[in-house]
Amino acid sequence: MRLRNIPGSREAIAENFFCIQNPEGIKGKWNTIFKNDNPIHIEVGMGKGRFLMEMAGLHSEVNYIGIEMYSSVLLRAIQKAESLENTEGNFRFIRMDARELPEVFSKGEVEKIYLNFSDPWPKERHAKRRLTSREFLRRYERLLPEGGTVEFKTDNRELFDFSLEEIRERGWSLESFTFDLHNDPILNIGNVMTEYEEKFSVMGNPICKLTARPGS
Ligand code: SAM
Repeated sequence: MRLRNIPGSREAIAENFFCIQNPEGIKGKWNTIFKNDNPIHIEVGMGKGRFLMEMAGLHSEVNYIGIEMYSSVLLRAIQKAESLENTEGNFRFIRMDARELPEVFSKGEVEKIYLNFSDPWPKERHAKRRLTSREFLRRYERLLPEGGTVEFKTDNRELFDFSLEEIRERGWSLESFTFDLHNDPILNIGNVMTEYEEKFSVMGNPICKLTARPGS
């Protein structure tokens, strides 16, 4: 998702309560931002943040951080955040490229990573940019504690098959997977739809989902 550049979006982000500035300086101390020791879950490539904010409203016992690369997109998430009454204050955003994640979180600081409808980067020479590539899995290993998981949803079957292969190649354990989440009687329980998920499922595309964790 890349919206037309919105003039002033960088400045608006720099001054916003929900957007964390200089996140590298908070590495290892994220509990001080939330003022509690609740687990931290992140969504990488959150877009306009619908999923993240709905999850935060449903799970006050978890702290959520949305990672988004583009300020024009993040600005939409901020506008939505400001219209909510999230009295728990259990979500924040960071504008950054996910390649920098190990500079921002220390080992064990993030219990769960959500990847929802990540960009497919269909050209082979761009495979390293896919958020489920072995290069990204290596980065996630540097954040997750033992037993920490990655949950990935997409309607793109080629990207999903690539992801299953990368998980196997990197020696991760596959906890569950489905090629049709919305018709899966177990895995669909409690599913929170993302913006893209709604768009693609309305078009009739089946949604794939996997949950995996580092190590065998
Ligand atoms: N997760 C949302 C959903 O399911 O509705 C948005 C999906 S959208 C297709 C993918 C988003 O990931 C875009 O907003 C894009 O800017 C962001 N993104 C892609 N690569 C990224 C990266 N390396 N770091 C941070 N954000 C990234």
